[in-house]
Amino acid sequence: MTADQAISKTCAIGIDLGGQSIKAGVVDAAGTLLCRCNQPVDKTLSPSQAVSAMADMVKTLRADDAVSDHDLCGIGIVMPGYMNRDRSQLLFAANLPQLSGSSLLADLKNSLDLPVVFDADCNAAAVAEHAFGAGADVHRLVVATVGTGIGAGVIIDGQIPRTMYHIAGSLGHVIVNPQGPQCPCGGRGCLEAMSAASAFDREARRVQMGQSDTPLAAILHSGQPVTGEDLRSALDQADPVASQVVAHCGWWLGVGVASWCAIFHPDRVLIGGGLAGLGQPLLDAVRKGCLEVGQPRLTQQLEIGLAHFGMDAGLVGAAAEAMGFPRLQREPLP
Ligand SMILES: [Zn+2]
Repeated sequence: MTADQAISKTCAIGIDLGGQSIKAGVVDAAGTLLCRCNQPVDKTLSPSQAVSAMADMVKTLRADDAVSDHDLCGIGIVMPGYMNRDRSQLLFAANLPQLSGSSLLADLKNSLDLPVVFDADCNAAAVAEHAFGAGADVHRLVVATVGTGIGAGVIIDGQIPRTMYHIAGSLGHVIVNPQGPQCPCGGRGCLEAMSAASAFDREARRVQMGQSDTPLAAILHSGQPVTGEDLRSALDQADPVASQVVAHCGWWLGVGVASWCAIFHPDRVLIGGGLAGLGQPLLDAVRKGCLEVGQPRLTQQLEIGLAHFGMDAGLVGAAAEAMGFPRLQREPLP
């Protein structure tokens, strides 16, 4: 067997432990998802339930026909949270309070008979894009996940910078508007307070006031929060309220991107997560905000695009990390 053929048969399991579900799948060395399984969870998930659910999922995936002629090299497991220095303990898990401070990571290592690597989900999303997606071979890449919150992973020359807790700073909490609303983190005017899902909902209610008969009106009057899908659908119907909301919140996201430019000098910033479904109108607004407030030398050359991997970014990136990504230069692929 040649080295190229050996690479083509390599695969790994990626697991994305989120607040609402555990997503797992087997990914090969070219980034193809060979098979997958999902398990719904909620905030009552205990460490022992998490370990047994993930062990069962690994067993199911290993038995899948799609994996039988591949060489499974390891498991990557990612989650939203803070890990200690040697990634042996989960100090804080967002949305899964029972896992915070537990022995989850050690217990997983003991129950899975393959090498296991742990990381934060925002890093995994960046690794997925850098290895197989819209950030392939980019030297300085930032991949933002914009949804309920805003997180971002960074890759610089094939390395993930890790300032504390294995993340590259809390990039959703750079202060963009000190006169802005309070953020759940305790800060004021954080990027997340200006541009995450709750900000789009807040702005939709403000703009809608005094107007009726727009596509968003029924949703706003129902008392349900406005989602990215609602806004997308309203944009498709040329709703002026939706256009104004996306332009406003996207502009603030661009202010955050301009701040990231001052820190990391990225060549490319990719927008992923639930609100990336807003597509080109969102990108246009982000670019506008970034160019209007940022340092021109840094922002004029910046490429801003949509992430390739949707909700699978975490599991694909987790598997990629188990296969040794990110790498400075990609290995030759078949
Ligand atoms: Zn904050």
